[in-house]
Amino acid sequence: MNKNKVISPFKPASHQHQKCLKSAIDAAKKHCELSGLRLTPIRQRVLELVWQNHEPVKAYDILDNLKKGKSSSAPPTVYRALDFLQDEGLVHKIESLNAYVGCNNPKELHNSQFFICDDCGAVAELDDVDIRELLQKKAHRFGFRIADEMVEIKGQCKECHESGV
Ligand SMILES: [Zn+2]
Ligand SMILES: [Zn+2]
Ligand SMILES: [Zn+2]
Repeated sequence: MNKNKVISPFKPASHQHQKCLKSAIDAAKKHCELSGLRLTPIRQRVLELVWQNHEPVKAYDILDNLKKGKSSSAPPTVYRALDFLQDEGLVHKIESLNAYVGCNNPKELHNSQFFICDDCGAVAELDDVDIRELLQKKAHRFGFRIADEMVEIKGQCKECHESGV
């Protein structure tokens, strides 16, 4: 197994996003089946809305989108669905943006490192063992125990800085 995984690169320039969406939903279904959990219609709908593109999505945008459809749902239902998806590693919350991104690697719970583009909002996700080991080592020196080590790094993606914005 490759130790230093790129879980998701920055958004592929032109691609058939339907395929990403479908494989994410399929992976979620399989994950829930194997874990004896239910991907209820609202959970699936919320997951689809997180996966509408490769950019982080805010909870209120999901609520807005649901309102446009016929299946309007109360905010607590949507937040519960997001909590469920987050617990199962199907989405991650980017704390600094207070927004969610889909993860297509739910099989193993992992800590992630995110590169976040300030200009277009695109996100890349890594699960890099070198970074994790380094953080562990540094934390150890302080007698600090890491509980949650999501790393969020802001900047400009290649596409944005090359277009000179
Ligand atoms: Zn896509
Ligand atoms: Zn992930
Ligand atoms: Zn960008």
